Amino acid sequence: MLQFKLVLLGDSSVGKSSIVHRFVKDSFDEFRESTIGAAFLSQTIKLEKHPDVTIKFEIWDTAGQERYKSLAPMYYRNANAALIVYDVTQPGSLVKAQSWVEELKNKVGDQDLVICLAGNKVDLCDEDATAREVEREDAQLYAKEQGLLFYEASAKTGAGVSAIFQEIGEKVYQKK
Ligand code: GDP
Repeated sequence: MLQFKLVLLGDSSVGKSSIVHRFVKDSFDEFRESTIGAAFLSQTIKLEKHPDVTIKFEIWDTAGQERYKSLAPMYYRNANAALIVYDVTQPGSLVKAQSWVEELKNKVGDQDLVICLAGNKVDLCDEDATAREVEREDAQLYAKEQGLLFYEASAKTGAGVSAIFQEIGEKVYQKK
């Protein structure tokens, strides 16, 4: 079994903890308390493209608040992958995500680190198309230019969540 370390980054309230909980527990809790500092969880998956490969993700879910920003390097420095999350209804959260991409590229480099950008809360756009403030194509183009994996997801419905971890697992496995 391979063990990969993954760090979650992004603005507060974009749904980082909710994505992790959807992935680890396959559940969603509207009223979960926000993360203080960082939380650790792990989950094991089999790669769909390589069913003989089992990967244990050790997931560090960091708090998005500015006052915890100085802690982030401790978590991303020896990570195999970073999942940077924004909220598709909050354009400011994409700007924040882009600043995390810059920071990772400057401090770690993307040879060693698989970076995935994920737009969360797409369920809100399914309910009301006017809720969307970040177009999928725009974020996808940015991700492509930067060489990042890209997904849209909903921690609430679960849409796209397992695909994120499958793709990250596959990419990290290929780098090993
Ligand atoms: P974090 O601060 O980035 O870890 O964000 P949380 O996971 O704590 O989520 C912040 C808020 O957004 C909470 O009220 C969640 O219930 C809500 N939320 C998270 N993911 C989704 C989603 O996919 N859809 C919707 N509608 N709400 C979400």
